[in-house]
Amino acid sequence: MTKPKTYIPYYDDIIEAMAAGGCAFCALQLVAAEKYIDSMLWESVNDPRIRREVSAARGLCRSHAWLLVRPGSALSSAIIYQDVVRTAARVVGTTPAEGRLSLGKRLAAFFRRRKPVNDALLDALRPQQPCPVCANAEIVDRHLSETVLDALSRSDAVLEKYRASSGLCLHHFGTLLSHTHTPETRQAIIDAQLAVWSALDAELAEFIRKNDHRFRREGFGAERDSWERAMALTSGPPPLGKSSRGGVTQTG
Ligand SMILES: [Zn+2]
Ligand SMILES: [Zn+2]
Repeated sequence: MTKPKTYIPYYDDIIEAMAAGGCAFCALQLVAAEKYIDSMLWESVNDPRIRREVSAARGLCRSHAWLLVRPGSALSSAIIYQDVVRTAARVVGTTPAEGRLSLGKRLAAFFRRRKPVNDALLDALRPQQPCPVCANAEIVDRHLSETVLDALSRSDAVLEKYRASSGLCLHHFGTLLSHTHTPETRQAIIDAQLAVWSALDAELAEFIRKNDHRFRREGFGAERDSWERAMALTSGPPPLGKSSRGGVTQTG
């Protein structure tokens, strides 16, 4: 029996992802998710533990589930999801509609002046544990952050790469900050990210200016897709859709 393996990116992978554009952590998280799902599909599908985890999570989360769609994955996906469907049916069949209300829930309802909701079935249908690919992503995030911080403790080279990159998305900027141990390191990372935002802000201003009919003849340059980059850098990258291995979506 094998648990799916966690992909641990190296320092060079991070530097390469920084140079490729977009949030480096998001890009490596996609690689990590693909590899985790590979391992789940080809090595762990017969391990009842992984099927139990997916069922307890009530299926993979919406972003990760569709990464299962790839050539040759149909049988393994069917085996995994048969368990999820059976679990949902069993939960509906065995959970009483009315559960015992905890004191906390009763108090919360009292303070919100609402009737306390007492639906054990709704509670039981919700994920009982995180999506295993999301849980794996937390391990990968920690590893990415520690690798960057370790490099930073030895030299400023990684900061230069950071400043020259598209920066981290809001989520991963927060993740990296949450792993810092000293105010100096924290400030160095904040400064690098501020430099990235400032450059992006200038590009957005240029894009907006060129949309004015008076300047339209100038034509667009690198700022052409600045609005999409701003979205990716704050809201996060586009939804994963189907697996990139299936050639349906790009990974960027
Ligand atoms: Zn990110
Ligand atoms: Zn997930």
